[in-house]
Amino acid sequence: MYHCIFSKNMYSELKVDLMKQALLCTKCGSRNYTITISEKHKSERFEAKKHCKVCNEHTLHKASI
Ligand SMILES: [Zn+2]
Repeated sequence: MYHCIFSKNMYSELKVDLMKQALLCTKCGSRNYTITISEKHKSERFEAKKHCKVCNEHTLHKASI
């Protein structure tokens, strides 16, 4: 049983470095994209110009956190 818990902890430690963030359209607030970023880089807000289905144009998208 202890071995089982240990294995699960090991697994989550490997996974903890990567996290998902939604990219929100800065114009309408829609969550149009999801990116996977490293935990180390979560303080750096990801920004990109992407197409928004709602606005039907290229707008600036920012990470939700
Ligand atoms: Zn939009």
